[in-house]
Amino acid sequence: MDRKQFLSRSIRTAAGVILAPALLNEDVFGASRTASEGFAPPAPLTFAQLPLPYAYEALEPSIDKLTMEIHYTKHHAAYLKNANDAIKDEGVAATSEEEFLKNISKFSAKARNNAGGAWNHNFFWQVMAPGKGGVPTGKVLDALNGSFGSFEKFKEVFADAAMKRFGSGWAWLVSDNSTLAIGSSPNQDNPLMDVSELKGAPLLALDVWEHAYYLNYQNKRAEYITNWWSVVNWDEVAKRLG
Ligand code: MN
Repeated sequence: MDRKQFLSRSIRTAAGVILAPALLNEDVFGASRTASEGFAPPAPLTFAQLPLPYAYEALEPSIDKLTMEIHYTKHHAAYLKNANDAIKDEGVAATSEEEFLKNISKFSAKARNNAGGAWNHNFFWQVMAPGKGGVPTGKVLDALNGSFGSFEKFKEVFADAAMKRFGSGWAWLVSDNSTLAIGSSPNQDNPLMDVSELKGAPLLALDVWEHAYYLNYQNKRAEYITNWWSVVNWDEVAKRLG
């Protein structure tokens, strides 16, 4: 008796004659089961590129169309491909992105850099939107006032973190045990990684890699940061603040 026959008989025994015909006429175990192999192992973690929630030109003049298009279709797409290759090659058993990032020190530099790049950009696209910016309201404003004294002070500290990140990296606003903190990370590291000095749940992020601004701003990172405030989507920050 093979596995399928065994299971069929078991179902007949367990379910009785009324339910059995319906169950046996379809694949009640789902698509992952084959007759000879039994249940397939859970699918490995895969990073997917979230759709850009606006057009490439939507964030102009803060972020120009060509930069957005290259950033999304080339840079981000490459991180995703390489992250998924590394996951396969290194036998990653984590089933969620967060669990993988929390254990990233156990994997290669390729895994760390590209999983970070995959995750960070998916996050970055969501926390921006056209026609946004301005001053947040409600619980976000309360939280920023509570942690930094004022919204203006928050912006100053965040921009300073973004400016002082030498080379490539990210500036972050995170929530850690309901306290907000600002910091930056090198390369594609993020605050969900065990290797990160800054820890917490990301609420807002700014990509300060030159690929994020160089076409339009060249060496003027400060100007990029100033103009970026106009496209910050505080509604998304509020969702993440919970
Ligand atoms: Mn980037």
